[in-house]
Amino acid sequence: NIAKLPKPAWIKTRIKHSSSFNETDTLLQNYKLNTVCAEAACPNIGECWSEGHATVMILGSICTRACKFCNVATGKPDPIDHDEPSKIADMVQKLKLRHVVITSVDRDDLKDGGASHFANVIKAIRNISSTVTIEVLTPDFLRKDGAMAVISAAKPDVFNHNMETVPRLYPSIRPGARYFQSMRILHEAKILNPSIFTKSGLMLGLGETKEEIIQVMDDLRCAEVDFLTLGQYLQPSYKHAPVVEYVHPDEFKELEKLAKSKGFLMVSASPLTRSSYHADADFTVLKRK
Ligand code: SF4
Ligand code: SF4
Repeated sequence: NIAKLPKPAWIKTRIKHSSSFNETDTLLQNYKLNTVCAEAACPNIGECWSEGHATVMILGSICTRACKFCNVATGKPDPIDHDEPSKIADMVQKLKLRHVVITSVDRDDLKDGGASHFANVIKAIRNISSTVTIEVLTPDFLRKDGAMAVISAAKPDVFNHNMETVPRLYPSIRPGARYFQSMRILHEAKILNPSIFTKSGLMLGLGETKEEIIQVMDDLRCAEVDFLTLGQYLQPSYKHAPVVEYVHPDEFKELEKLAKSKGFLMVSASPLTRSSYHADADFTVLKRK
């Protein structure tokens, strides 16, 4: 039993409810769209929604996996909503998004793991705008041969899949996943289409060592991954894995420097960094380079 660590001052976020927060909230509710922001109880929700930035979760709100860090419900998944692609395209237009992040629950029950639905969402967004950039944050498509080819053919701008933690902690933290499967799909995305940026992320504070983090960085560079995010793990409820350590912001800065020296094109590392936090701003900067 690990005693609950008190939250340090640098973790506390300001809730920024504003009229634009309410507009985003209402729009998402009207379209009955799920977001990771709400489902994962993301600490940045006030800031992101006020800025009209949300991460939409497709393929229902019930996952076939039960990762020990994740607040999404596990169970029998929802039927696919075939209107979802057009609803998301409408939402992107109404919120005037320049960059949209699409993610999903894991769908081990579907033959293609949901890859064709991801592709349909990308197509629907492209149909309404040729300028909005699209980032997909997908499941690991374990035992779903051909899924990555479907995703790649739909040409997202960024293919994101989070490693989440170091390999030693997979059995306890990501029991349904395999470290090398996750690494493999990142590399496959790059091999299938080198012009698609690839991205991955880790949550820190689960008991990993610095050496282990550095090893994952090296593995990711071997898989030619372009972008890296590192954030602090926060325990969504007492049923989830406990926080073993609150990593100091200076330590994040040091890791960011190290990651950049390894050749990642873009690194975001801070306690409140999330895979999709400020993804639009970062991407715009990169496109200008
Ligand atoms: Fe949503 Fe990502 Fe912002 Fe969190 S960081 S509120 S998941 S867009
Ligand atoms: Fe959460 Fe994704 Fe794990 Fe499902 S696969 S429990 S959505 S982290």
